[in-house]
Amino acid sequence: MSSTQKAAEYRKLIRKTDFYEVFVVPLVLIRDGHKCVKCKSEKNLDVHHKHYNHDKLSLNDLITLCRKCHKKEHRGAPHGK
Ligand SMILES: [Zn+2]
Ligand SMILES: [Zn+2]
Repeated sequence: MSSTQKAAEYRKLIRKTDFYEVFVVPLVLIRDGHKCVKCKSEKNLDVHHKHYNHDKLSLNDLITLCRKCHKKEHRGAPHGK
């Protein structure tokens, strides 16, 4: 891999772990007590968007779900995280 390719990969990585991952996800986890809001599991937690809207990101729109409940919520069509 060339250094320019490496730089592009790195930028992609940064974008993925942007503001949302660093600041919003922990807030949602804390608010929900680090538990799945459906089954109260404390393992494999994800943050799920009830309405996936990047323009109007609100904590009310985000809930903590374990991986199992998250999968059910999407029925095989995950939005990535
Ligand atoms: Zn669950
Ligand atoms: Zn989701």
